[in-house]
Amino acid sequence: MENGPTINVHGQAIARTESDAGGSDVPSANEPHQLCWFCKKRPATHTHTQTNFSERVCATCLDRLQLQHDFEHAWLHFLELLNEERYDEVLAGVDAFLEANRHRDHDQWLARSVAMSRETVLFEAGRYAEADEACDAWGRFPFDNVTDRWSHGSSKARIALALGRPQEALTIFEEAFSHQDPRYASAIPYYLHWLVDCSDAVGQPVDEKWRRVAEAGAEDFAVEMPVRGSLGESMLALAEMTREMPSKRQREWKANHGGGAGEDKP
Ligand SMILES: [Zn+2]
Repeated sequence: MENGPTINVHGQAIARTESDAGGSDVPSANEPHQLCWFCKKRPATHTHTQTNFSERVCATCLDRLQLQHDFEHAWLHFLELLNEERYDEVLAGVDAFLEANRHRDHDQWLARSVAMSRETVLFEAGRYAEADEACDAWGRFPFDNVTDRWSHGSSKARIALALGRPQEALTIFEEAFSHQDPRYASAIPYYLHWLVDCSDAVGQPVDEKWRRVAEAGAEDFAVEMPVRGSLGESMLALAEMTREMPSKRQREWKANHGGGAGEDKP
């Protein structure tokens, strides 16, 4: 594994052949004007290495990325506890992790992730009222993008279904899913089953107003919307068909990078 890749994941050439470091106060000799890969705002001063590639990032984002890595690592232990249904220990564990790392949580990623985790654990434990409260706490953080909103809406809907309130579940998910952004069309098929599940629970077909959204998801994968007996069945067929397919963005990335030699390497 080499350090200092010459092309980053966005295909921009990074390497400079001449050292025109005049006037820069950024302490990097090779890449004096490069912005942080993660925040795209501050100068990149550190190298963050993931499994398959390295990125130049600022100090704050290096902290943030390491924090994420540490929390994901801690989850390996929490998952073992979850499998043994030791829910209160997991809840105490994630809370303790948050308290110990709050000073590193520059953008509230950890606080939000812990709120999300609490919802998951409480739902698993069948403590739906508490899960609903945790879900509301999670929803008070800003959403990064529409898929975060859909994920939150599906969790709220799941709880309402478990509590025997299907109409509320459908209303909640439809509201969340009404926020659409073409940049995230590839995530549409994955979430369609919530429309089907909630509508089924209410005892009505999926509203035709969602057909266009499902079609946008199909277009992103360059497939035709499957024709089935109902819109709901077509949606489930689309979700199944696209589950393992590369999205439009993945196809374009591969095309621009020549394909063939692995996803993450230039
Ligand atoms: Zn940064």
